[in-house]
Amino acid sequence: MTDTIVVGAGIAGLVAARELVLLGHTVRVLEASDRAGGQIAAATVDGVRIDLGAEAFATRGGLVRDYLERLGLADRIESPLDAPAWLCTPENDLVPLPAVSLLGIPSAPLAADVVRVVGRRGAWRAQLDALLPGPIGSRMTTVGGVVRRRMGAAVLERLVAPVVEGIHSVHPDQLPLTSVPGLRHHLLRENSLARAVMRMRIDAPAGSLVARIDGGMTTLVDALLAELDRFGVAIDYGVRVIAAHPDHVVVAGDGGDEHVISGRVLVAAPGIVANEHGETGGTTQTHLVTLVLAADGPYRDALVTAPRGTGVLVARGSTVQARALTHATAKWPGLRERAAGREIVRLSYEQPVDVEQARRDASVLLGVSIPADSIEHVETVSWNRAQRITVDNELPLIGEQVAGTGLAAVIAHAVDTAHEFGAPTDNAPPSNEQKESAA
Ligand SMILES: Cc1cc2nc3c(=O)[nH]c(=O)nc-3n(C[C@H](O)[C@H](O)[C@H](O)COP(=O)(O)OP(=O)(O)OC[C@H]3O[C@@H](n4cnc5c(N)ncnc54)[C@H](O)[C@@H]3O)c2cc1C
Repeated sequence: MTDTIVVGAGIAGLVAARELVLLGHTVRVLEASDRAGGQIAAATVDGVRIDLGAEAFATRGGLVRDYLERLGLADRIESPLDAPAWLCTPENDLVPLPAVSLLGIPSAPLAADVVRVVGRRGAWRAQLDALLPGPIGSRMTTVGGVVRRRMGAAVLERLVAPVVEGIHSVHPDQLPLTSVPGLRHHLLRENSLARAVMRMRIDAPAGSLVARIDGGMTTLVDALLAELDRFGVAIDYGVRVIAAHPDHVVVAGDGGDEHVISGRVLVAAPGIVANEHGETGGTTQTHLVTLVLAADGPYRDALVTAPRGTGVLVARGSTVQARALTHATAKWPGLRERAAGREIVRLSYEQPVDVEQARRDASVLLGVSIPADSIEHVETVSWNRAQRITVDNELPLIGEQVAGTGLAAVIAHAVDTAHEFGAPTDNAPPSNEQKESAA
């Protein structure tokens, strides 16, 4: 039996801990805060669980779906409303996102829904993409670099940037091209970025690109905690690791003293493992305001009959301060049912804002008047999100800092790394999985 320490009880740490215990390791998880889940968190308002962090997962490749099936959660997977998100332009026009697009990159630059957002000049510049040889732009390392080179600045700033910033909290110039698997390959094959997008959308499996778990994403955390408890994994809360080494960690104790915990170490928390320049990576802040609106407000009919799709992404230059709005009760039918007539709206910001600003932004973005006295409940959370770094360190690191943003990427990377890290040797004792199936 191996004594293994997993640092951090976010989704990466919990997933890795489960894989390791199934491989036969004795696992101990050290978590700095007083709860597990990290950026998966929820509040319960009048019996309705509302996600305050991640609210969905990408369905691409079926990986998370398979994982949820293994945890017995397959029948709780919920698809969103089949409607496009909307865009708030710099002029505060509200329009649905172009019909066939990928991260806002259009497949038909001269289509009316693209011209409406980027203007005729911008659309004709984007159409140049069809004439450029495939290799042009393909060596760019970021999504922003490729889009600028092939389709121009208008498509990049007015269409792609709001979508990427709404989803990934970074400008496309900071989003690695590798985070859109297949895009470079299809660009070279199709000799056009627009046709690459079209090809990827045609090849995508039927169904929505994202899904959630009925009851909220913390259901996944609860299921993992139950499994870890069943396998006897200890999670120590309020334990902050200040240094990690392959065979031990240093932990900050009460009153400023430090102590050492020995074991093979897998790090699932940001800010601990450094790259070759000694950097542990910066952070970006996302401030989330969730409004629960009364069932009988004056907006009721307008919001039910003509919602702005699943939500609205906001281009820079708009007077709206929010970067994105998710109309959660429109997006998720199961949540609408549970909310019993109330509307749940969440807005994300780069700076902290007060409730009044969030109310004004929600009114503009949803095209309805939301009176202050119809706000029944407010949840405000500030998230510090680790920026991506490349590390080549003997200490294995998992989590969004190396895997990229999003549960699908983080879970896949955590499973793979845990298996590499914890693979049994020939003379190792049988794993828990083997013991279970033998029993
Ligand atoms: C508002 C918001 C919305 C999002 N929406 C989505 C979405 O809809 N879909 C999606 O796929 N993704 C979404 N994401 C991103 C997704 O939540 C993250 O990519 C994912 O949860 C990251 O998991 P992680 O385990 O890598 O990191 P974290 O969740 O950050 O976990 C790291 C853990 O390590 C702990 N820790 C930190 N330092 C130490 C230390 N020194 N010692 C011990 N423990 C430590 C932390 O307390 C934390 O529990 C969203 C994120 C936010 C903030």
